[in-house]
Amino acid sequence: MRLNGKVALVTGANSGIGQAIAQRFAAEGAHVAVNYLAGGSRDEAAKATVASLATEGIGAPADVSKRTDVEAMINSILEKFGKIDIVVNNAGVEVKKPFVDITDEDWQFVIGVNLTGAFVVAQTVVRQMLKQGNGGKVINISSVHEDVPFPGYAPYCTSKGGMRMLMRNMALELASVGINVNNIAPGAIATPINQAVLNDPVASANAISEIPWGRFGKPADVASVAVFLASDEAGYVTGSTYYVDGGLVQQVTKY
Ligand code: NAD
Repeated sequence: MRLNGKVALVTGANSGIGQAIAQRFAAEGAHVAVNYLAGGSRDEAAKATVASLATEGIGAPADVSKRTDVEAMINSILEKFGKIDIVVNNAGVEVKKPFVDITDEDWQFVIGVNLTGAFVVAQTVVRQMLKQGNGGKVINISSVHEDVPFPGYAPYCTSKGGMRMLMRNMALELASVGINVNNIAPGAIATPINQAVLNDPVASANAISEIPWGRFGKPADVASVAVFLASDEAGYVTGSTYYVDGGLVQQVTKY
């Protein structure tokens, strides 16, 4: 087991990619705090995710865009497990609108969760890692859109581009204290965030035609790279983005 005895926090872990990472980390021996945004069916999904883990885990409700929520969440994890070795900034949202129609609320919502959330969670956890004095692993789930523009998704692409630069700065500032900081950039993964496309056979076929590997990615495809980056085997890896996209970003435009 590659993460035996480690404690990990995964944000947005009651669904999709975050849930798969939480389950895989636990299968590798880590205790996992399953962060989720409280409310409605999300509470039940979080409870079910914690119950599905191979090790003891906890539900960790917090809106990642709110520092007071995040600090309370980190305190509850420390009360339970006494340390945090690994954090995965996975929580993410998107709003699809033409640039000219984006409201301030749309902008702040997407930047708030995806970018400010990643900053606040990472900073709070890194401060704790510094107290522990043992290094640590920070992994951000960005997107191929940390680099590739996507018309209709300006706030989302901006948030993911910001995660890329945040990761690169953190990697340099934290190298001397043994904290590895890396991004995983998924392509098109079959999760609830893509439900509309998955439910539409024409849109689905169009999306698949752009993916050299010929299929949507699975949450497990992302989770296996996350395990590597969270493990001691990635001890010399920092400041990098790992694409998990079936070749999507290498695709040549088809005419
Ligand atoms: P998802 O909708 O299943 O997961 C998103 C998670 O974020 C959910 O658990 C949601 O409850 C949580 N979340 C939203 N707002 C939150 C908040 N304020 N505080 C805490 N949690 C919050 O979709 P997913 O595909 O699993 O997305 C996970 C991450 O992967 C996102 O950052 C997304 O941008 C990224 N990503 C997904 C794809 C894809 O094709 N599915 C591609 C590239 C990147």
